[in-house]
Amino acid sequence: MIPPPWQARLHLQAQHRQTLGRDRSIHPAAGVDVCSNDYLGLRRDPRLAEAAARAAHRHGAGAGAARLLRGTCELHEALEATLAQWKGQEACLLFNTGYQANAALIPALVGRGDAVFSDALNHASLVDGCRLARAGGAQVGIYRHLNLADLEAQLVAWRSASPLEALALVATDAVFSMDGDVADLPSLLALCERHGALLLVDEAHATGILGCDGTGLAQQQGVHGRIPLVMGTLGKALGAFGAFVCGDRLLREHLLNTARGFIFSTALPPPVLGAALEGIRIARAESWRRERALGLAHRLRQALGQPDQTSAIVPVPVGADIEAVRLAKALQELGYDVRAVRPPTVPEGSARLRITTGAHLTDAELDGLIAALHQLRANR
Ligand SMILES: *Cc1c(COP(=O)(O)O)cnc(C)c1O
Repeated sequence: MIPPPWQARLHLQAQHRQTLGRDRSIHPAAGVDVCSNDYLGLRRDPRLAEAAARAAHRHGAGAGAARLLRGTCELHEALEATLAQWKGQEACLLFNTGYQANAALIPALVGRGDAVFSDALNHASLVDGCRLARAGGAQVGIYRHLNLADLEAQLVAWRSASPLEALALVATDAVFSMDGDVADLPSLLALCERHGALLLVDEAHATGILGCDGTGLAQQQGVHGRIPLVMGTLGKALGAFGAFVCGDRLLREHLLNTARGFIFSTALPPPVLGAALEGIRIARAESWRRERALGLAHRLRQALGQPDQTSAIVPVPVGADIEAVRLAKALQELGYDVRAVRPPTVPEGSARLRITTGAHLTDAELDGLIAALHQLRANR
């Protein structure tokens, strides 16, 4: 029998990935967690498990429908109210994942004649939101990482060639997920205000971990409640699952009427909402978790001779894909769950180990990891 044509095609592509050292596979969690985004160690906290169980018993295991149909229960409303209050915003709308939120909200805001400007190192979900907006007729501008002069030049050039009613959106990660560096939100906000652009900030790696109360980077940098659109996730530091967008009531209303990833998807299930509410309560009450995660990251950066940053993400640059995989494997054999991050997740030639620190890590575990990293570096 002749094999179907798609087999030859996929086989060729698989071979190509292997030659590049870029084939990916799924490995279940094993060893000391130094790569997840469970920064506060809440994912396995029994209080979240109990809150999830209570929510399931009271409201059901699933939501049963999309939010605009019968999928809303009182926990959706309680969680949205809690998040809006925490972020200092008027309103909040839940999304099922951060990916879905970013992919849905950008094309819901900008279309034909409009523009979206995106930092070169933004998360893939923002990139895909921009692609969908482009398919809808918007212009997409990628500005150099953290380079506000480049952003402003692109914004001014676009504005001068566009009618007054055309809308510009600027999208940025708060904490960049693969580098652990942070955006300058006050300067971005001032720039956007100067040019009448709408600012969207993705606080996926800032929510629960930065600012007093874990409110996020906007709070830490003194622009709490002033960013027009703040997006965040519930599956990282908060130990649950899902995502949200905070802004004013007009923006919430617009999104629930137009964001396809919101409208055409079954609502978050009650157990997830119960866990998220409990995760937020604990994140706010137990500040030691945040201090511990950031303190360990600080120690790791110092040990590696890296400049300090305000996040619990510590990239160890390697360069070549195959070398990054080899180093990750060596660390895994020593009991540390370190993963290699390769293109297209990071730019070509910048494969790295992405190490994260969480409140669950012991001092001895961190010391052991530092010793192992030093030894591997000496042997290279
Ligand atoms: C993880 C992440 C997302 C996606 O969130 P999910 O809820 O995992 O889909 C979006 N943006 C950034 C910056 C992220 O790191």
